Amino acid sequence: MLLESYTKKIFRPECNPSFQSLHCIAALDQDITDALPYLNAVLGGFEYFKDPPAVTFRIQGKIIAVHPREIAVNALRDEEEAGKILEWLRREINDAWENRDKITPRYEGTPRPGILEILKLLPKTNCRECGQPTCMVFATLVAQDAKGPEDCQPMDDQERKRLDQYMSQFHFNP
Ligand code: SF4
Repeated sequence: MLLESYTKKIFRPECNPSFQSLHCIAALDQDITDALPYLNAVLGGFEYFKDPPAVTFRIQGKIIAVHPREIAVNALRDEEEAGKILEWLRREINDAWENRDKITPRYEGTPRPGILEILKLLPKTNCRECGQPTCMVFATLVAQDAKGPEDCQPMDDQERKRLDQYMSQFHFNP
């Protein structure tokens, strides 16, 4: 097992202490540098940095940054959610490492959702029911994972399903 243990710290963002979501930093007791390109290949990292090595993921509205000796997660509901995500990552890191001879390491990020692709799947009426001035602005927020198909009420079930399917290729659920 590559990653055996870590120490978790939970805190509120200093820039806005009244903000309700939490941040978490896990200091890793083992160095996982060599596992990062395999983890990136398996989970489809949003961005991959070679030097110093790091991979970031966007999952359920959170940004997760995995470094050789540290994992950072933002926008957490509570400590329980932090623990769940860290344990999931520990399993994924160890699985990727143990199966590395069957995985092609990846040294770049995966394709991101296209704003125009998302826009094509929206009603394009600029009705503002979602609180945004145009469907284009809404599409930009969907691409950033800040909004989802459920936030556009005028969409019918089929349209929502199509947008869900399009976005699902960029998401992993722990
Ligand atoms: S609610 Fe939907 S259709 Fe209306 S502006 Fe927002 S994204 Fe466009």
